[in-house]
Amino acid sequence: MTNIPEIFGSKVFNDAVMKERLPKDVYKAMHKTIDDGMHLQMDLANVVAAAMKDWAIENGATHFTHWFQPMTGVTAEKHDSFIAPEPGGKVIMEFSGKELVKGEPDASSFPSGGIRATFEARGYTAWDPTSYAFIKDDTLCIPTAFCSYGGEALDKKTPLLRSMQALDKQAVRILKILGNTDVKRVITTVGPEQEYFLIDESVYSKRPDLIYTGRTLFGGKPPKGQELEDHYFGTIKPRVSEYMKELDEELWKLGILAKTKHNEVAPAQHELAPIFSTTNIATDHNQLTMEMMKTVAGRHGMACLLHEKPFAGVNGSGKHNNWSISTDTGVNLLEPGATPSQNTQFLLFLVAVIKAVDDYQELLRMSVASAGNDHRLGANEAPPAIMSVFLGDELTAVLEAIEAGVDYTDQEKTMMSIGAIVLPHIPKDTTDRNRTSPFAFTGNKFEFRSLGSSASIAGPNIVLNTIVADELSQFADELEKEADVETGVYKLVKKVLADHKRIIFNGDGYSDDWVAEAERRGLSNLKSTVDVLPTFIKPETIDLFTRNGVYTEAEINSRYDILLENYYKVIDIEALTMISMVKKDIMGAATDYQTMVMDAYTAKAAAGLDLDLTVDAEKAKKAAYLASELSVRLAALEKGEADEASITEVYEMAKYHRETILPLMDSLREIVDELEAIVPSDIWPYPTYAEMLFSVR
Ligand code: ADP
Ligand code: MG
Repeated sequence: MTNIPEIFGSKVFNDAVMKERLPKDVYKAMHKTIDDGMHLQMDLANVVAAAMKDWAIENGATHFTHWFQPMTGVTAEKHDSFIAPEPGGKVIMEFSGKELVKGEPDASSFPSGGIRATFEARGYTAWDPTSYAFIKDDTLCIPTAFCSYGGEALDKKTPLLRSMQALDKQAVRILKILGNTDVKRVITTVGPEQEYFLIDESVYSKRPDLIYTGRTLFGGKPPKGQELEDHYFGTIKPRVSEYMKELDEELWKLGILAKTKHNEVAPAQHELAPIFSTTNIATDHNQLTMEMMKTVAGRHGMACLLHEKPFAGVNGSGKHNNWSISTDTGVNLLEPGATPSQNTQFLLFLVAVIKAVDDYQELLRMSVASAGNDHRLGANEAPPAIMSVFLGDELTAVLEAIEAGVDYTDQEKTMMSIGAIVLPHIPKDTTDRNRTSPFAFTGNKFEFRSLGSSASIAGPNIVLNTIVADELSQFADELEKEADVETGVYKLVKKVLADHKRIIFNGDGYSDDWVAEAERRGLSNLKSTVDVLPTFIKPETIDLFTRNGVYTEAEINSRYDILLENYYKVIDIEALTMISMVKKDIMGAATDYQTMVMDAYTAKAAAGLDLDLTVDAEKAKKAAYLASELSVRLAALEKGEADEASITEVYEMAKYHRETILPLMDSLREIVDELEAIVPSDIWPYPTYAEMLFSVR
């Protein structure tokens, strides 16, 4: 039996370890640095580094690395051993404060979207002391931010921390206006629910498409899919259960609060949810969780698929970003309270979020855009590409009453009037049953459900924090002018509801009716990454991010380029993988099959009997058609790929891949999938969907 409290955080240089191992004054100073978000003094850093090194070595570490999140959305690390030469051909183990605080990776190969060219040639990494150091693979990992020497962020952590600061600043301002002066700091919290697939290594290794692109580029639906809905919350198979146990343990050792695990809707699909933490730690932990999911799968002879859509026609994977705002005094600002003043506060923060989602629909949509997620959003298994807010009938009724200026009465429930907003108790379990909403209020937090499973959660949270901070700052500007705050809040809430209620939708987000209704309401519906990315560089977006100190204009431009580049490169790799699979394996199978049915047909015809050969003739014709069409469509995709050489501009390149390459890929796939359905399995070169989805027993 695992002693969880004992192993939890055993690989983390956390507060308890610091308290135990650092001299008292150093520990205190270190704490102050963390609490105030300050930089570490070098003398302090030297002491911390020495303690960290001793602890790491005792725990088996031989190397250290600055662990960071470049703009690719994955994590990066370069391992240095602790060794330093000593006279006599010996070594000692060394780790200085300087090495702890600052690293200088050769950053030239990380995407910078032109930032480094414009500003500085090299970048450096700087420790984020708010996220604990940890040991992974015998390496001491120091969570760091990655910047250019000019101070431009080259990573995801820096803008995330800045967005948390922006929200902190504005939320504290609002709380002061409301007379809540104890609060020194406001943080955003996130609990990301992570979906994934597990398949057996033996089928995975036979699929070049899974290996190179993370998703199947060919394959027809299996005879049994998710129709019976027997997998969701179903009994966990022993092998998967063993995997989940080991995964939990590995995550606990890293101080990650892995909490809930269950089967998901599709066969072979599962989910893991941690207990929420502050946004930057949740982001670091989600990256580690994804990495650990893959590592542990390997140990169990399985492959973990984190792609948004590994199997066409089967539910894809997402990530639900549960988000809320809390004070350092432990109050969740999105929790309806028991007293009128708490409710005033709650309503104000609630409408700030509502207004933010309406004002910045396209920016939120943009924050979850990727080539992989394009396969999910709007495909009736994930939220639509239209942003809307689900509040539940009860809360909606309360807000409608406020907007209409009438008292909300519901039998025995409480009343509400100007100056003393008394909310009825809002039961949590009635608020989160709508699974089709992209942005649902679930009692004391919002659940942003449009995120793709493989993406870093940094991007969407940067946007969320920034847009809410911005609304709060406008609210604060207005409220500061009001003589009576309660009346001011009431007026403001009323106005926001009148102007932004179009974004509230409690119905079925998957229905066609909603698409039509959303259009009538003037809501945005941008279907693809290519449609939505230009939102990032609109003047109003640049204004928003710069006035909140989250991104500079150069940082936005570089990210825009990187996102576009990433989009078309992903599709390019997919197209090239398809071409190679068809040429190397599928074409041969198609020809073999054609020969086989032709031979059968000729043999039967030669038998000299009066046989009915209609079916055989049809089969032979079909085989010939498919083999020939396969060549034609392969050639078309190859030409499409060759033609892109003439495009130089990055947006045009992305658009070309969306509008030309993707349809050519679909067209080729159509023929291959038809072939797969009729070609006998001993000729077909790849494991089928059925074999992959039911490979783990
Ligand atoms: P679901 O019905 O969506 O599975 P859960 O109650 O399991 O809902 O919660 C989902 C996630 O929401 C968990 O990761 C949980 O820790 C997180 N969560 C709960 N409260 C908050 C909060 N105040 N801020 C952020 N995340 C939260
Ligand atoms: Mg959920």
